[in-house]
Amino acid sequence: MNKGEELKKLEQEIAADNTLPLREANLVFGEGNPESEVVFIGEAPGFNEDQQKRPFVGRAGQLLRQCIRDIRWKEVDVYITNIVKRRPPENRDPMPDEIDAYKPYLTRQLEIIKPKIIVALGRFSMNYFLPEAKISRDHGKVFRFDGSTKLTTSGFLLYPIYHPAAALRSTQMKEEFEKNFKKLPKILEKADELLAEKNTEEKAVQAFGAGQSMHNLQQKEEKSKQEKLF
Ligand code: URA
Repeated sequence: MNKGEELKKLEQEIAADNTLPLREANLVFGEGNPESEVVFIGEAPGFNEDQQKRPFVGRAGQLLRQCIRDIRWKEVDVYITNIVKRRPPENRDPMPDEIDAYKPYLTRQLEIIKPKIIVALGRFSMNYFLPEAKISRDHGKVFRFDGSTKLTTSGFLLYPIYHPAAALRSTQMKEEFEKNFKKLPKILEKADELLAEKNTEEKAVQAFGAGQSMHNLQQKEEKSKQEKLF
């Protein structure tokens, strides 16, 4: 089975899973290139996404997709999905038990795609991977996961940035969002090197300029270690 077929099978499995919460809404599994090196992960579908059964097709999605085109990538070449695959009522924040319920499926989706970079859009997506992180402080930083976590078995770089909906609410956040976005081609160019390096802190600072940093973060390690890293 190729990756596309594996994803299709996974989607059918989620659709048939009667134990999942939010089943009154449509399933928005995700879309894009199953071979993509970059996966964008949002929080949960909204009204438009639920209607069209596609991720990021409303106003925030238009901004995300415009930024993808602005860096000369194609929307069909990347992969876009959410943590929670169905819309919470009234667009409320997803609840911890909802995030937990969909977690095994996102894990398997990422296992299939094996991206080099996961772009976490907003705090929910970032905190899914880094529970201790703060979006105002940690957006635009690059974190390396070594593949020994419960979240995926292959290594990847996590790049948290503001959620495009937040960028639409504030000029300053929009500027940050666009600035962070423009660094993506460079991060992808360096991804293999950054994933291979064991002690990359200094190198990454050089690669991404002042204000950027790289942390080796191993989720399997004790909380105390994580706290030290932040
Ligand atoms: N916001 C999200 O987090 N995901 C979507 O798909 C749309 C809006």
